[in-house]
Amino acid sequence: GSDALSGKVVAITGASSGIGAATARAFADAGAHVALAARRADRIEAIADELRAQGASAVAIPTDITDEASANAFIAGTQEQFGGLDVLVNNAGLMLLGPVNGGDTEAWRQMLDVNCLGLLYCTHAALPIMREQRSGHIVNVSSVAGRTAAAGVAVYNLTKWGVVGFSEALRQEGLRHGIRVTLVEPGFVETELQSHNDGDERIAAMMAARKEEIGKVLDAEDIADAIVYACAAPPHVSMNELLIRPTGQA
Ligand code: NDP
Repeated sequence: GSDALSGKVVAITGASSGIGAATARAFADAGAHVALAARRADRIEAIADELRAQGASAVAIPTDITDEASANAFIAGTQEQFGGLDVLVNNAGLMLLGPVNGGDTEAWRQMLDVNCLGLLYCTHAALPIMREQRSGHIVNVSSVAGRTAAAGVAVYNLTKWGVVGFSEALRQEGLRHGIRVTLVEPGFVETELQSHNDGDERIAAMMAARKEEIGKVLDAEDIADAIVYACAAPPHVSMNELLIRPTGQA
């Protein structure tokens, strides 16, 4: 029901922009207490201020999820602030494109660190709290790129494919403990993600062409709404997987 999320404690990574920021706003609108994590402290603080001004309960916790101690501090800080942890949205992510041949190995490490290890650290910190509560919900944001591979996307594909497999295994581990897992796989969403490749004109042009071909792409709010919907379902309902493309995306 519409009150299902009232008073729930929701921790969101990558809440400084795009899907994460929209998700924080959507949970706050639903009456949840939200904890926002990202590296850009000014951004998450401004969003938390905005939400509090609207009467919501929000806290900004500057975090680099690739640093295990920082990820742990985010989860512990959320629990301290609000007295529990009902939902973790593992949303932070990085997309650096380019062929494998001659690829930038530092970009590969960054993607593995954020998209995979950061997600693992936050999950690792959240599980004991959820096990003790005997309830919890972990939402992992993968991508259409976690199911469909393409030349030039290989390492991003690797990280997002990993999140797909991990999420199903995690679901099986949690199901006797009242812990739900939802995998979210967005198609093209209008966010800062595309600008991660701004240094590379060829890739920027390719992204612009893809967008043109799709027509109306998704807004971050479209994904946020789906995440909130999955989390508002009654405890016996587990939405395992949400694959959401813009209608015009092949
Ligand atoms: P944005 O670039 O707008 O958001 C990415 C977020 O991740 C930012 O808030 C950024 O915050 C955060 N982040 C990056 N590195 C770290 C870090 N080390 N520690 C903490 N936070 C970090 O992109 P989107 O909103 O599009 O991306 C959200 C998720 O959606 C990603 O996992 C992405 O792969 C996925 N996705 C996006 C699609 C799209 O078309 N946009 C399609 C499919 C999936 P900061 O820089 O402040 O740390």
